[in-house]
Amino acid sequence: MAKYILSVLLTALALSGNAQAYLNPGVDTSNIDVQKALRFYNAYIQDFNGGKMPNFSKYWSADELKRFKIPDQQVFAINQSPLYAQSYKTTILYAKPLEKCIHLKTQFSAVNDGAGNIMTLAITNHYVDLSNKNAPYFINPFTKNLLAWKQKQVRNVKFFYQPQHKFNMQKADSLIHQIIALEKLWGLQPIDIRYYMADSWDELQRIRGFDFALTMGNPNKPQGISDDIDDLVFCAGLGENYFHEVVHVYLNRRYPKSPLREGLAVFLGGSAGRELNWQLKRVNDYLEQHPQTDLNDFEDFWYSDLYTNPESVIKGMICHIVYAKDGMEGLKRLMSYTSLKEIFKVELQVENDQWNSYLRTKIREYSKLKISRFTL
Ligand SMILES: [Zn+2]
Repeated sequence: MAKYILSVLLTALALSGNAQAYLNPGVDTSNIDVQKALRFYNAYIQDFNGGKMPNFSKYWSADELKRFKIPDQQVFAINQSPLYAQSYKTTILYAKPLEKCIHLKTQFSAVNDGAGNIMTLAITNHYVDLSNKNAPYFINPFTKNLLAWKQKQVRNVKFFYQPQHKFNMQKADSLIHQIIALEKLWGLQPIDIRYYMADSWDELQRIRGFDFALTMGNPNKPQGISDDIDDLVFCAGLGENYFHEVVHVYLNRRYPKSPLREGLAVFLGGSAGRELNWQLKRVNDYLEQHPQTDLNDFEDFWYSDLYTNPESVIKGMICHIVYAKDGMEGLKRLMSYTSLKEIFKVELQVENDQWNSYLRTKIREYSKLKISRFTL
């Protein structure tokens, strides 16, 4: 299932252009404000054609643009490509006049198989304010939903959390301690980060505006994403100390072309709330049970179960291997490569067709290490 989703996503990415959003039967368009809101929304969605970001000031208020470069938190629903640019079937489920705006609920989907079954990527909510006749704009559900949340600033991190959450200063201090160490190691200035945390991933997605987005609805587990355009971290299940996503905010911009950005975050901050060696043990067990798995294509091996992404874990291990050999200098050098082939050849001295046997040996070896994560 998961692999299929990836292939569908990639196929969809190769397409370009959005058709006009389809109106689900029953959507009443007789209201003139609904018609205006639909025109405005369709123009916005189509402005993402080709994957480029639109001029957000055409659609969002000055206040929102002061807060965010990309105010719409539903743009990156499932991966780093804008949801609206991926040629999914765009179905407006309803267009409801509210007191001050029109509420548009949209389903983004794709035909999943020969039987015509539908795969749903996301169900989004947008609110169009028409009170300024010449210039409608979106009201941001994210900003509205956050009004009920609490905030706390600790050094360069502003934490946002649900009112019932008891803020854990010890965990926040631990995060800051690691951030300071990271800044020193890389010679970086503090970055002002907005850090949104909740007990569950579904709750985080809800406050961003979604009724549904792929990955919602599974058992709760530590899960996060980061946005290094607006310096945001969203994380569930680990409270105030989700360092992995903070690493992305600091270092993704430093190594924009490295194939190991995820590996570096795993090496420094673990994966899904677990240390690298916990994850490596799981990958090792899986590989022993599945001798046919070919790690020459390990970048296609990104799902073994809900808690482990073998591709990320293996990339984290590569960071550890080079760090064990050459320390920080080696780790920084490793991040400057732009291709995995080169990394294997030059840094690991492994030829193209030998990745499987090399990685299996190293995974077995590194999964047995007691400390398998760099400690800041
Ligand atoms: Zn990551």
